[in-house]
Amino acid sequence: MPGKVIVVGGGLAGLSAAARLAHNGYQVTLLEKAPKLGGRAISIPLKGFNFNFGAHAIYARDKSILRKYESEIGLQVDWKDFSPSKAFYDVGSYTTPMPATLEGLYRTKILDSQNKLRFAYEVIKTLISINRGEKGVPIGEYLQKEPKQIRDLMLTLASSNFFTNEPERIPSPLFFEYYKRLFATQKAVSYIGGGWQAIVDAFTQIIESHGGKIITKEKVLKVEWKDRHIQKIIGKNAEYIADHYIFCIPPKELNQIFAETPLSTTIAEYAKYTPTQVVVYDVGLKQRIPSPYTYIYHKAQKVFITDISYYDTTCVPEGGQLMQAIAYLNEEDIQEKRADEKISLIESVYNKHFPNWRELLVAKRVSKKAIVQEIKCIDDQQLMPTKFYQCQNAFFAGDWCQGVGQLSELSFNSAYNVTSQIMKLQKVATTVA
Ligand SMILES: Cc1cc2nc3c(=O)[nH]c(=O)nc-3n(C[C@H](O)[C@H](O)[C@H](O)COP(=O)(O)OP(=O)(O)OC[C@H]3O[C@@H](n4cnc5c(N)ncnc54)[C@H](O)[C@@H]3O)c2cc1C
Repeated sequence: MPGKVIVVGGGLAGLSAAARLAHNGYQVTLLEKAPKLGGRAISIPLKGFNFNFGAHAIYARDKSILRKYESEIGLQVDWKDFSPSKAFYDVGSYTTPMPATLEGLYRTKILDSQNKLRFAYEVIKTLISINRGEKGVPIGEYLQKEPKQIRDLMLTLASSNFFTNEPERIPSPLFFEYYKRLFATQKAVSYIGGGWQAIVDAFTQIIESHGGKIITKEKVLKVEWKDRHIQKIIGKNAEYIADHYIFCIPPKELNQIFAETPLSTTIAEYAKYTPTQVVVYDVGLKQRIPSPYTYIYHKAQKVFITDISYYDTTCVPEGGQLMQAIAYLNEEDIQEKRADEKISLIESVYNKHFPNWRELLVAKRVSKKAIVQEIKCIDDQQLMPTKFYQCQNAFFAGDWCQGVGQLSELSFNSAYNVTSQIMKLQKVATTVA
């Protein structure tokens, strides 16, 4: 008989973990401190527009762990695949297609013809693992031997996939592991019909239809611990006991909850790491501005704009347009409080490519410090393991935990891995009995 599981945190990691276990017959209770589920993937309705607070796209959905959630537990997602021919780089004096496909590679001016061949060769070398990087060597240094155009393009790609303006600091093995998967995809970028709220609602529906319990406005405060096991967890409103506990809350929150346990020093390390942070500036317009692009990346400013409503028409009132713009922040930008400068930069990119956006503006959403990933994969920063030897019935998942991919893919992946570990334990127990 599958056991009792408490899942702490109702973001994408917590929801997907709870849904998979509930579907497999576990008695699941999910605790979320906020009044609303979704964590950083919530959608916010404003003046008829539906703004995605955080996540807006899935990269390589045909390689994503989400396919397993679709086939195994019946997750339904209305995918809206992105048109690579509408993705452009703004290189200052002109715009040019992004080499996201072979056609894009043929048409782009970002590489000369010799380097186009060279880039295709590098893609193949990555796909067959000849390019693997080197432990302890960041990708910027690793690519030093490449022609400037190739190095520049690889780093520009990494900027947009890792949401960073310091892509050269990404560890080279991680870079190639990531692009081995991404270069093999047929679905580089996909949006979700109904916004990310749709995926939050779909997981919620699976949990509830399989008897799972969801308790919102319940903040977990601490855990009680004995003999390498959690005995119970203490919430603001009640105490909870289960066979297994899955913590899908960021390291800084974990640090408080585990403060009085033998795991405290281990978790404190991860809580010190810096997150990936960005400035978000989304605009809802009453009328579409015609444009050849649905994605434009301003290379010098490191700002991108995506026309979400081109793909997901449910997020706008009829005839409207919703665009998301993002500028990356590094540590220095954060220390020097440069978020306002980034806002001006974003406005200048809107002005350049969507000149009359201000006259059509109905609603906007600005966030000066949005956390894209809780542990940024640069330098020696390490993602957290999903389980520790010191505690046998606690598991961890989220975009700060070890797994495949980056951003929400890490949340889904680590959640899938911990639920597999729990189900495996159950199988062993059943066989022994
Ligand atoms: C602007 C922006 C753009 C993004 N774009 C993309 C994108 O294009 N593609 C992509 O894949 N990803 C993207 N992401 C990242 C994606 O949104 C996150 O990776 C993902 O939502 C993280 O989910 P999570 O469950 O791991 O963590 P979270 O969403 O942080 O969930 C943690 C949950 O735990 C709850 N919690 C915390 N402490 C407690 C406690 N003590 N007790 C109970 N509950 C608690 C929180 O309220 C929260 O609901 C973006 C993020 C941002 C901010």
